[in-house]
Amino acid sequence: MTEGALYSRQKREKRREQGLCCECGAGLAALVDWTRSSTVCPECFESRRQQNRKWRHTARGRKLERNRIRRWRASNPERVLKIRKDAYWRRKVSGICTCCSEPATDGNRCAFHAEMARNASKEYARRKAQERRSAGLCTRCGRPPIPGLTLCEPCRVYMRATDARRRAKDKQSKTQKEAA
Ligand SMILES: [Zn+2]
Ligand SMILES: [Zn+2]
Ligand SMILES: [Zn+2]
Repeated sequence: MTEGALYSRQKREKRREQGLCCECGAGLAALVDWTRSSTVCPECFESRRQQNRKWRHTARGRKLERNRIRRWRASNPERVLKIRKDAYWRRKVSGICTCCSEPATDGNRCAFHAEMARNASKEYARRKAQERRSAGLCTRCGRPPIPGLTLCEPCRVYMRATDARRRAKDKQSKTQKEAA
């Protein structure tokens, strides 16, 4: 540390101990409503913020800020989780998409993110089924299948019932269309 830097640091510390703004030396005790910072006055707080903002908009500042956030996240995993969870619930109860700030029009998500989530779960199911098929297991639940088939007994019963329901529905909508 250079001599100048050491001097200004000592000056800051002295001012802080005396209850003065450590940037400009204004008395903080007289600022009754000032609680945002205990070390600088409102003007210096604001100018510091402006400076920080400008700094964050430079390439180097952005990079350092990103690293700082990454480090903070890595060292506070439970805080990150809580913030994420809170944001999720806040969005959910106020009818906002849980992935962005659009209104939730499709369940808990906007049309775009609902479609994305559906695709992701479809993709997951497809991959899982493929894995199970190549391992010689029931593609729906992963238990040993009926010899010669890709499903186990319970899953076969279930799929048959689902098929029957779907067929009944198709038939119903057809007859409805014909009647109309
Ligand atoms: Zn000040
Ligand atoms: Zn969304
Ligand atoms: Zn099964």
